[in-house]
Amino acid sequence: MAVRIEMGQGASRAVEESGRSSFVAGGTGAALAMSRGAPAGAEDGLVGWVEGRSEGPLLLCVGGVHGNEPAGVQALEAMVGKVGERRDLLAGDFVAIVGNMPALAAGRRFMAYDLNRAWTPVHMDALQSGSRTEPDDAVVHSITSRRALTPVAEDLEVVRVMELLERVAAGRRGPVYVLDLHTTSGRGGTFTSAEDNPRHRAFAMEVPFPLVLGLDEHIEGTLLGYLNTLGYTTMLCECGQHREPRAALRGIAAVWIAIRAAGLLGDEDVPEARRAHEMLRNTCAHLPPILETVYRHPFDERDRYVTRPGFSNFDRVRAGEVIGDDRYGEVKAPEGGMLLMPLYQRLGEDGFFVVREADGGRAG
Ligand SMILES: [Zn+2]
Repeated sequence: MAVRIEMGQGASRAVEESGRSSFVAGGTGAALAMSRGAPAGAEDGLVGWVEGRSEGPLLLCVGGVHGNEPAGVQALEAMVGKVGERRDLLAGDFVAIVGNMPALAAGRRFMAYDLNRAWTPVHMDALQSGSRTEPDDAVVHSITSRRALTPVAEDLEVVRVMELLERVAAGRRGPVYVLDLHTTSGRGGTFTSAEDNPRHRAFAMEVPFPLVLGLDEHIEGTLLGYLNTLGYTTMLCECGQHREPRAALRGIAAVWIAIRAAGLLGDEDVPEARRAHEMLRNTCAHLPPILETVYRHPFDERDRYVTRPGFSNFDRVRAGEVIGDDRYGEVKAPEGGMLLMPLYQRLGEDGFFVVREADGGRAG
């Protein structure tokens, strides 16, 4: 029997516990659920795994890598049942997983460290060797908590997500595509980001948001950076402001588009993708199609950086314009361009980015 739909319960529980969502997982998909093998437990973070009728690509969707961004998880919980209803048409497999479960439950970006900065070879080796030498998860410890000799929440999250990724690698029946759903603390954060090569660009540009290139060159240890090294085709999709109700709807739209782009369903079998494309295009038709990252303002907690009120994503800024303040005084944009991800939350390592319209446009 080659048909399988697994519905995890852990993700919805985490979001519900955070008190920030009334979304209930399951719906019609739960009635269709046919579990095979180990049931998706509350702890494993698998939102769902829909095994299509025939071989084909695997689309891996990730939500909640940052715990204060529940919209992506809500989108994935809504999508598992919908995709499951179409599994007879599906070529390949649809998999949805949750990033940082304890942080989602707490409604925090992270507990001890940013799960989207954890995927460096050094850090992963440290966690893996810890888990290999000691079968007990309780003694898995990372380079960041070695002195304490107890694992922090994200150490266990890296290990848990790695186990899910191993299941994906073992279960894939074709090339793997990845859609990583996020939201921003500032307003107007609708864009995609991808590694700057033709394969990734083509995938990301199926979502009609501005494509921001070069973010990956400014940020180390992202989940997608790691998945790129496995040969997967990946895009990050920022769906709007954290608490904006439309953010989850944009996430759903991005998933429909990614399903078509990855080739799990043909255009005629997924009319939602066309409607989704129209909806997302209308969100940001006034913005340049491709932008390059020209500046990142990093800071650490001791700097006490705070963005001045009133900035939104894609606001035009001049070189020398004051964006925020820290303990040394005013923080200025050293380059002119458009502001990206001005930080309006306590936790983070990036105060803001400056991006600029790239040459070549969407045809490039
Ligand atoms: Zn995020």
